[in-house]
Amino acid sequence: MEQSSASPHVLIFPLPVQGPIKCMLKLAELLCLAPDLHVTFLNTDHNHRRLLLYTDIQSRFATFPQFRFETISDGLPEDHPRSGDGFMDLFDSLETVTKPLFKEMLSSGIGRPVTCIIADGVLNFSFEIAEEVGIPLMYFDTISPCGLWTYFCVRKLIDAGELPFQGDDLDAPIKCVPGMEGFLRRRDLPNFCRVGDLNDPVTKIIMKEVQQVPRARGLILNTFEEVDEPVLSHMRSLCPKLYPIGPLHTHLKMKLATEPTPPGPQQASSSGLWQEDRCCLKWLDAQPPKSVIYVSIGSLAMMTSDQVMEFWHGLVNSGHRFLWVRRPNSIPGGDWEGQIPKEVLEATAERGWLVSWAPQEEVLAHPAIGGFLTHSGWNSTLESMVEGVPMVCWPYFVDQQVNSRFVSEVWKLGIDMKDTCDRAVIEKMIKDVMDLRRDEFVVSADRIAKLARESVSEGGSSSCNLERLIEDIRLMKM
Ligand code: UDP
Repeated sequence: MEQSSASPHVLIFPLPVQGPIKCMLKLAELLCLAPDLHVTFLNTDHNHRRLLLYTDIQSRFATFPQFRFETISDGLPEDHPRSGDGFMDLFDSLETVTKPLFKEMLSSGIGRPVTCIIADGVLNFSFEIAEEVGIPLMYFDTISPCGLWTYFCVRKLIDAGELPFQGDDLDAPIKCVPGMEGFLRRRDLPNFCRVGDLNDPVTKIIMKEVQQVPRARGLILNTFEEVDEPVLSHMRSLCPKLYPIGPLHTHLKMKLATEPTPPGPQQASSSGLWQEDRCCLKWLDAQPPKSVIYVSIGSLAMMTSDQVMEFWHGLVNSGHRFLWVRRPNSIPGGDWEGQIPKEVLEATAERGWLVSWAPQEEVLAHPAIGGFLTHSGWNSTLESMVEGVPMVCWPYFVDQQVNSRFVSEVWKLGIDMKDTCDRAVIEKMIKDVMDLRRDEFVVSADRIAKLARESVSEGGSSSCNLERLIEDIRLMKM
């Protein structure tokens, strides 16, 4: 009992959207494997209801007596889409409704005293509140380090006159992002850079984020030293206490597999905000090795009906088998579906499979998967990397424009399709990744997948960084 009250208590607060929640749940589980740490995970009421409905989080975390969930309002009505165009409403509401509630929660206490808050890097208010209530805070930026580094360089880009863009040539090179000279173009910068207005709300959030992140007690990143070394070395000049502990999903799997007494199920847990359709795994079982292209645009990106049509024709015309996630609310309703040509529907029935939400980690690990047409979200990119699956990238927003450039030009793991959505281009790129240029991508993909696994093995860089993180949390308690 005495030892327990002296135990450190970490409060984890993710940005309340799919990618960060999934990532931070993995971090929570990893921290719970350190028996002296107490962990509280703060979900919004809306997301917690959905997680209870669609996932095994309750039974999974019930195996850790030192873990508990807390919930807080995000201030939005239950039926608000919270994605695509509505994404900014979430930020406004977090600032006006959630921020005061968070302060009240910390001031009145959540059981045992909180030793340290781990909050998403973009939750700017969490830093202010942590300072006010006197609790140390670490940031966990769940976007890619390459994307985050371009955020850090926005001020420099403005001072050098590279931002806002002069003229409309998106292929003009960008010179003021250290480490990315020579391959970064205007079109590869995060999409808010195209707005050209420094008073744009997204730009303001990002500018505040980059001021606050270096002031926190540390910065946790979902990456591994071996893949991001050049960017991390630049970032360390601003944030010396850096903890690259990814890929988190593999890290957790590895730790559970090597636990002498595993606390619960060792397989990947679901943490989706939608019901996973597991039938697609059975369909994949019936497909030849490396024959299927998996298509998903993640949890927030949207498509117009024209873009869906181009994707559909491109997929069918490529002649390859495909598994396509069409998330509810990601594509418009209406009568356009009635206009799909008969031969496209027939080809889909023959060699395609459509689902509304997939068990993506298991899908990407399936032997039938040969490629991934992705929106280049950072979690999806890492999940593909670990399984050595080459990618066709169609970025939507946030860090995705940077990620897709790194996938194609730095890591050589696939092709960047940004800023086009044309059936002939889609067809060609799928053929390239699945067949014509496959060998060239597979060499890099296998090499990076091996490095990723090594980093989370005993003595690997991410494994050591996680130990250091846990030790530093313990020191905060002292
Ligand atoms: N995901 C999933 N099933 C799907 C589509 C996505 O489980 O059908 C998961 C995926 O594995 C990833 C997360 O949702 O972990 C999406 O995060 P990412 O950073 O790739 O993109 P975002 O949704 O934040 O744009």
